[in-house]
Amino acid sequence: MQKTGKITVRGVVQGVGFRPFVYAQAYALGIAGTVKNLGSEVEIFARGEQFETFLVAVSRGPPLSRIDSVEVTTAQQEIPEGFFILPSGTGSLTGMIPPDIAICGECITDIFHNGGRYNNYWATSCVNCGPRYSIINEIPYDRERTSMTEFPPCPVCAQEYGDPGCRRHHAQTIACSTCGPEIQLSDSLGNKVEGLDPIREAAELLDAGRILAMRGVGGFHLACIEESADELKRRLGRIEQPFAIMVRPDYIDRLATISRREKRSLESPVHPIVVLKKRDPTAHASISNLHTIGCMLPYTGLHHLLFSHLKHSLLIMTSANMPGYPMITDIDQAMAKLNRDADFFLTHNRKIVNRCDDSVIRDEYIIRLSRGFAPKRTAIDLGKHCILGVGPELNANATLYRNGFTVTSPHVGNVRNPATLEYLKETVRNLKRLLGAKFDVIAHDLHPQFLSTRFAREIASDHGLELIPVQHHRAHIAATTTEPCIGIAIDGVGYGDDGTVWGSEIFSGQVPDLKRVAHLEPVAMPGGDLATRFPERMLYGIMPDKKILSLLDQRGWSDIELGVLEKQVVRGFNVIQTTSTGRVLDAAAALLGICRERTYDGEPAMKLESAAIGGRAETWDLNFSTLNGCEYLSSRSLMETAFIHQLAAHDGDMRMIRDIAASFQFNLARGIAHLALHAAEREGIQKIALSGGVAYNHAIRETIHKEITDHSCECIINRDYPLGDGCVSFGQCVYAGKLLGTRD
Ligand SMILES: [Zn+2]
Ligand SMILES: [Zn+2]
Repeated sequence: MQKTGKITVRGVVQGVGFRPFVYAQAYALGIAGTVKNLGSEVEIFARGEQFETFLVAVSRGPPLSRIDSVEVTTAQQEIPEGFFILPSGTGSLTGMIPPDIAICGECITDIFHNGGRYNNYWATSCVNCGPRYSIINEIPYDRERTSMTEFPPCPVCAQEYGDPGCRRHHAQTIACSTCGPEIQLSDSLGNKVEGLDPIREAAELLDAGRILAMRGVGGFHLACIEESADELKRRLGRIEQPFAIMVRPDYIDRLATISRREKRSLESPVHPIVVLKKRDPTAHASISNLHTIGCMLPYTGLHHLLFSHLKHSLLIMTSANMPGYPMITDIDQAMAKLNRDADFFLTHNRKIVNRCDDSVIRDEYIIRLSRGFAPKRTAIDLGKHCILGVGPELNANATLYRNGFTVTSPHVGNVRNPATLEYLKETVRNLKRLLGAKFDVIAHDLHPQFLSTRFAREIASDHGLELIPVQHHRAHIAATTTEPCIGIAIDGVGYGDDGTVWGSEIFSGQVPDLKRVAHLEPVAMPGGDLATRFPERMLYGIMPDKKILSLLDQRGWSDIELGVLEKQVVRGFNVIQTTSTGRVLDAAAALLGICRERTYDGEPAMKLESAAIGGRAETWDLNFSTLNGCEYLSSRSLMETAFIHQLAAHDGDMRMIRDIAASFQFNLARGIAHLALHAAEREGIQKIALSGGVAYNHAIRETIHKEITDHSCECIINRDYPLGDGCVSFGQCVYAGKLLGTRD
């Protein structure tokens, strides 16, 4: 018997080949009807004997789709003979923006197929792969609303687009060398380098050691071979910070040890940078002087073609912007800003509408939520308001909540300068436009001076919206779980309820009611931010002892400097109090002589982690006390133990330094876990949530996790959002939504 019905599918259903997928199913099952894209839902009218089988197939969707709901209602309209894909309409815009997808295996085969239509064409894509978010002006996702609209398809592409039997049936990005975007090689003055094949010539220049600026999917990269790494560092003035690399797939095993999960991440449709453990921790030091190395595989046709000509097996591939600043997307801007950093420019003429940096993950935890992951959509009920979360200051992004789900933007950067603030504003405008959303509540960081806070206040006063300040570490916990829990948030800095710098906060309760119950010992940051840049200051702040002054004296500090430092700490002059975990790790790195000046975010703590690799951790005494009703762990006593061990180590005895570094991390982590466990026992709570940038440290995270589970508690860590501040805008939305919920 024939059955008729209207099927509405909601979720990630655009830019993932949904309509051609439905068409193919209908064709195979003899279903008549239509399919139409309505922005964030797909509407299908269907009639046929195998209606139920068709419904099951449609509910499963194509591989890249994510389906939230499938609804079947009666079809009120005539259903035609045959099956048709109808032009898109605008539906409820309930929030689907497809992320960019790495080139698929079939398209790679097409590129290297001699005599094929796509042979050597750098921008080959299909319904299963290619740029999406980075080229979208508006949704529904159709070519005319993307930057591909400037490249009308040639008759052969148009024919493939219309052919239900073809993989590029309804592929919005379909293009070939006749009709599609073109690639060009030019020198640093913008003069075109004449030649038959710009990609082959670019590979030759790279092999010869030249530095290239390359326009990619979501912005510009700077690329060069390993031998040119030092030159690139010199030009960028970034001597210490590790670079990410792009590696030939068959070579990656030689550089790093890769677990099956890491391999799966590397090869996933996202193709993120995966921070891997080097085989030899001291190898490739000009790329990374840590024990880890950030690797990604080629993820566009351009990359694959480049590597096919390249003699080297890896390329340094770093975003062509200062860390924390927005990625450069525009050709003219790239020429103006990079002409001293890059010798040549490999560019294309497909406009980048939405900037998108490479995503970064480590141990399957997201460090940077960007290309391929973002815009990130999460189904969550936060009530009837439409909420914007503007994020904190560092590693910021924005999140918008509406109607049962949140959408988080790609990584924005450090909102400390006008350029990044402008990018945050642009990101908020994009989210608003793409989702058709009008927010009525803005959640922001508690810090009154953050540019993001000022931005939130500005929009709120312009439009009469409600503002909800959210304390930084509570946002971390809200991003992890909304169930009753003990929450551990360990990171560098966050503005506390009392105006001091927090960073090791342990809460008890349920969002939005999270009570601070424990933390690390409040210690002095002599000279404020200067103590972040020069961790030896922090060392004295934690352990204000003559022994530290004489250690610094041996290291070349002048009497005047030492006098000022001592006065600051003793008299509390120009000193901020902090409970930051990051600063304690920084101070340990300073004590062990591993890092005396911080030149990039997290450097001392990351170097401490590398120094601890292979070290033997021993158990030290932990000292707990109570202050204003909160339990705290003495950081000073940990530092004093480390100091005693360090005195016993002979100069340059790396084995002992390794052991002390490992022991320090182990005992700090153990202490933090015990603060949480004490609270869990007091409150009778079994769930312990963990978040914050310090949790990226493998040894610290695993120690906390083990202590918690060894004591029969559950440890919750969110793998869908960054552990660092990239989760804060999402957490702000969750917190604000729950707070508003308590008022209703
Ligand atoms: Zn493809
Ligand atoms: Zn074409």
